[in-house]
Amino acid sequence: MTRRACVIGAGPNGLAAAIVLAQAGLQVDVCEAQPTPGGAARTLELTLPGFRHDFGSAVYPLGAGSPFFLSLPLASHGLEWIHSPAALAHPLDDGTAVMLERDLVETRNSLGVDGAAWDKLMRPFVERWDEFALEILRPIPFVPKHPWLMARFAALALQSAEAVARRFRDPRTRALFAGMAAHSFLGLDEPLSAAYAILMTVPAHAVGWPIPRGGAQSLTDALCGILSALGGRINTSSPVTNLAALENYDLILCDLTPRQLITVGGERLTDGYRRQLGKFRYGAGAFKVDYALSAPIPWKAADCLRAATVHLGGSFEEIAASEKAVRMGHHADRPFVLLAQPTLFDSSRAPVGKHTAWAYCHVPNGSKVNMLDKLEDQIERFAPGFRECILARRVFSPADLERMDANLVGGDVAGGAMDIRQFFFRPTWRHYATSAPNLYICSASTPPGGGVHGMCGHNAAKMALSRIGRGWNLSLSLWV
Ligand SMILES: Cc1cc2nc3c(=O)[nH]c(=O)nc-3n(C[C@H](O)[C@H](O)[C@H](O)COP(=O)(O)OP(=O)(O)OC[C@H]3O[C@@H](n4cnc5c(N)ncnc54)[C@H](O)[C@@H]3O)c2cc1C
Repeated sequence: MTRRACVIGAGPNGLAAAIVLAQAGLQVDVCEAQPTPGGAARTLELTLPGFRHDFGSAVYPLGAGSPFFLSLPLASHGLEWIHSPAALAHPLDDGTAVMLERDLVETRNSLGVDGAAWDKLMRPFVERWDEFALEILRPIPFVPKHPWLMARFAALALQSAEAVARRFRDPRTRALFAGMAAHSFLGLDEPLSAAYAILMTVPAHAVGWPIPRGGAQSLTDALCGILSALGGRINTSSPVTNLAALENYDLILCDLTPRQLITVGGERLTDGYRRQLGKFRYGAGAFKVDYALSAPIPWKAADCLRAATVHLGGSFEEIAASEKAVRMGHHADRPFVLLAQPTLFDSSRAPVGKHTAWAYCHVPNGSKVNMLDKLEDQIERFAPGFRECILARRVFSPADLERMDANLVGGDVAGGAMDIRQFFFRPTWRHYATSAPNLYICSASTPPGGGVHGMCGHNAAKMALSRIGRGWNLSLSLWV
C-alpha cells in the first residue's frame, strides 16, 4: 500500500522535503497557507504593474551550491541562474567600491596588500566546496567525513569576525569582511560571526552569488514542477491550524518554526518537548523596502553596477556598531543595508528601461520603528540622487513580513537566532525529530538554518524515511 505524507508549508524547505518523500514513492500532499507557494522565495508585483519584486530572498549562493538542488533537474523546469560580473560590491565614502569578484584570484589581485591573506583564508574551502557543502549543510557532525577540512573551519568559525579580520591590514578588506559577517545577525565581536563571513564568501568564489531569471519565483516554480512530475500535490490557501485534521497520513513534516509547531502540534507533542521548543530563540528582524525605479541606481562608484548585491555600511567599525546596536535591542542610526539590483542583469522583471531594487536592514525582533529615512540615507550616501529615481516603494515592517509568511516571526528572516546553542541544537537536540512518532520539523529552524538551499527539508525527509524503513539510513549517514 502506498504510504501518504503531508508537508505543512511550501517554502523552499517544505518543497525540498516533499520532493525527497515523493522520490521515495510516497503520495505527498503539501498544505500552504498563502495563495502562492514559495514562502520567502516568491516574486510578486509589489509596487507598480510590470515591476516584479522578490518578496523575501533574492540572491542564492547556497541555492546554487546546495547538494540537493544540484541533484534536481531544475533547469529542465525553467530555472536559469544569472551571474552578475562581480558577486558583490561594497562602496566606501571615497567614491570607490571594494569588490568581491567571483574569481578568487581576481579578488586576491584587487585586494592588494591583503590579497594573499584573503586567498589563504578562503582557498581551502573554495577548492573543496563540494565536500565542504556536504559537511556544513547538515547537523554539525560528531565525526566529520573530512576531519582536517572541518577542523580548519572550526578553528576559524568559533572566533569572532573582529578577531579574524585582524589578519587584514587594509580597512577596505576589513569592511568587505564585516559585510559578509553581518549576514549572521550576530555582533561582530561574538563567536561564530566569522563562520558566517566564511560561509557567505566561499560560495561566492566556488559557485557564485546568482539570481534566478524572473526572480525567486522561478526557483519555487521549478521545485513545484519537479514535485508535480513525481505526483505530489500542493494545496494553496490551506493553512493548517491543528494536526488533528491530518490523521490519515503516515508522515507529517512541518515547514514551520517552533512557535507554530507548538500551536498546531497540540496533544501530539509531549509537555517536555513543548517546553524545549518554547526555549527556542528568534533572531533580529528585517525592515525591508522594494523599489520601482526610473533608472539604475546612480552609484558614485561605477563598479557597483557590476554586482547584483551591494552592501551599504561603510567601514568594519561602522557595520560592527550597527549590528551591535541591533543585538542590544536598539536601532542603528546608520544601519547596515543589504541591497539587490536584479534588473541590471535581468530585464524581464521591469518595464523596458525601468528598474527595481530590494533593500533591507536589521532591526530588533518585532520592531515597530520606521527605518525608511535611515535606510534611504544610507543608499543616498553612496548613490546621491537615488530618491529622485523612485517611482514607487513598498515598505515591509517585521509585522508585514510575518503577515506575508507566518515563519518570519517578528521579521526574523533566518528561522531563529544562529547563535552558538542553536548552531548545535536547532531547534532542540533532536534536530528534525519531535516527541511524536512520524512528526518532523523541516524548516530553517533546523540545521543548517536560514537561507534558500532546501537542505533542512532534504535532511528531515531523509530522517523520516529512514525511520519508516524506506530510503537510506540518515541516522548513520548524517552523523557518522
Ligand atoms: C526579506 C528576506 C530576505 C532574504 N534574503 C535571502 C537571500 O537573499 N538568500 C537566501 O538564501 N535566503 C534569504 N532569505 C532567507 C530565506 O528566504 C529563508 O531562510 C528560507 O525561505 C527558509 O525556507 P523555509 O522553507 O524554511 O521557510 P519559508 O520560506 O518561510 O516558508 C514557510 C512556508 O510555510 C507556510 N506556512 C506557515 N505556517 C503555515 C501553516 N500553519 N499552514 C500552512 N502553511 C504554513 C508559509 O506561508 C510559507 O510558505 C531571506 C528572507 C527574507 C524574509
